[in-house]
Amino acid sequence: FKARKPENEVVLSYEKDSAERISLKAKLSELKQQQLEIPLIIGGKEIYTGNIQKCVVPHNKNHVLATYHMAGEKEVKAAIEAALEAKKEWVKMPWHHRASIFLKAAELLAGPWRMTLNAATMLGQSKTAYQAEIDSACELIDFLRFNVYFMSEIYNEQIISTNESWNRIEYRPLEGFVFAVTPFNFTAIGGNLSIAPALMGNTVLWKPAGTSIYSNYFIMKLLQEAGLPDGVINFVPGAGNLIGNVVFNNECFGGIHFTGSTEVFNSMWKIIGENIDKYKSYPRIVGETGGKDFVFAHKDADVNRLVTALIRGAFEYQGQKCSAASRAYIPESLWPAVKYKLMGEAATIRVGDVEDFTNFMGAVIDKNSFDRIKGYIDYAHNSHEAEIIFGGNCDDSAGYFIEPTIIVAQNPYFKTMTEEIFGPVLTIYVYADDKLEETLRICNESTPYGLTGSIFSQNRRALVEMENMLDYAAGNLYINDKPTGAVVGQQPFGGGRASGTNDKAGSKLNLLRWVSPRVIKETF
Ligand code: GLU
Repeated sequence: FKARKPENEVVLSYEKDSAERISLKAKLSELKQQQLEIPLIIGGKEIYTGNIQKCVVPHNKNHVLATYHMAGEKEVKAAIEAALEAKKEWVKMPWHHRASIFLKAAELLAGPWRMTLNAATMLGQSKTAYQAEIDSACELIDFLRFNVYFMSEIYNEQIISTNESWNRIEYRPLEGFVFAVTPFNFTAIGGNLSIAPALMGNTVLWKPAGTSIYSNYFIMKLLQEAGLPDGVINFVPGAGNLIGNVVFNNECFGGIHFTGSTEVFNSMWKIIGENIDKYKSYPRIVGETGGKDFVFAHKDADVNRLVTALIRGAFEYQGQKCSAASRAYIPESLWPAVKYKLMGEAATIRVGDVEDFTNFMGAVIDKNSFDRIKGYIDYAHNSHEAEIIFGGNCDDSAGYFIEPTIIVAQNPYFKTMTEEIFGPVLTIYVYADDKLEETLRICNESTPYGLTGSIFSQNRRALVEMENMLDYAAGNLYINDKPTGAVVGQQPFGGGRASGTNDKAGSKLNLLRWVSPRVIKETF
């Protein structure tokens, strides 16, 4: 039997006086009054190591939301043991029962857990209500439901049998355990990177990013409430190097599901390479990494749509999406109109506490991010090759606030045009209309990345040319739309080049990375 194709979860609007706004506000106050002490969860047991760190609110940095315990070597080893032990039962569970647990989690999240996850994401990661809703509610619910749907397609696949032979394909989980390393910027990714392998029968050691432990802990509790057996997913906050060292030295390391920086992914890949003789099977290495995502406008672009895409693509969630629009190429003939409208729109953006629902942007995630982003803005400020035409102010007195910032670069290879900043900074290069081809080539080749991008034109021939020339520049290419906001089941997400292994989150292709098929032929 096959699962029904799900519908995407409907996004709630949180309009003034709406029931959802009222209940979200109540949940925000409730969470702020609690002082959670977050343990590790290994084999279903709560572990308190005494090595404690704080979860703070990025837009109100003196507010400590919770404390969490960090794993030492002993706990990482225990988590691996727990995962291997739990796997013995987990692989025997029929796949539709595994699916039921995650479908139940989706129902709980769509219902009673929705406001908890959204409030936790707002407070811990400084997302606005809308940004939290599309992430920790809708995207996570969609990951759960669509993964079950794709899983059912995989398990229903048959191979050709004849009268004399019967051929079966068994989609077994990978040998060993899976290591999920997850980022701060999407609560849904935190969940999905451990849920997808677990759904396919693997057991998982989950290392969440230090800055999203608060919301990620609630996902763990939600999964437990949905009936996930102990040890299937083990929640192990801690230092990346320490955890990685233990994991990559274990012969049962079966694969990694990663989202984070290119630099960290590359260093992990090298360590895995050095240890390759140790492992029972070649580990699966699946990663989504950095981006330097573009918006490329042709002279026939619709200016209104283009500007909306630039504003939303560059500044929603403070530009901290791997998919964020961070460089734009605008033809000279359109520039006066684009600039006028862009400056007008940028001036309406309100930055501040995300609990004030009129704010469009919150704070960036932490002091490190703040300093890095400010460093790029300062660089542009001091350069003769660039002009900051909007924003540029940074203030970390109360929280890590950075204004939406727009830079115009005279040189398409300018630092902020080519390096990933991961903040609310958009750099624009204005090109001569007769240099379309040359500029497309620069767009394609001036960064090592290949994650997302948008092309804008009302001219079909131009769109075809742009699409062809920007061949591997984006794994997700948008036409006349912003480069962010991929929807599970509609735009499977991921890119190539230095942006990752392009194993498309929320797709059948991704789930197939977590199985090691066995083909069985029987003759009669
Ligand atoms: N899937 C998200 C989007 O399309 C980006 C994910 C990420 O930042 O890693 O905007």
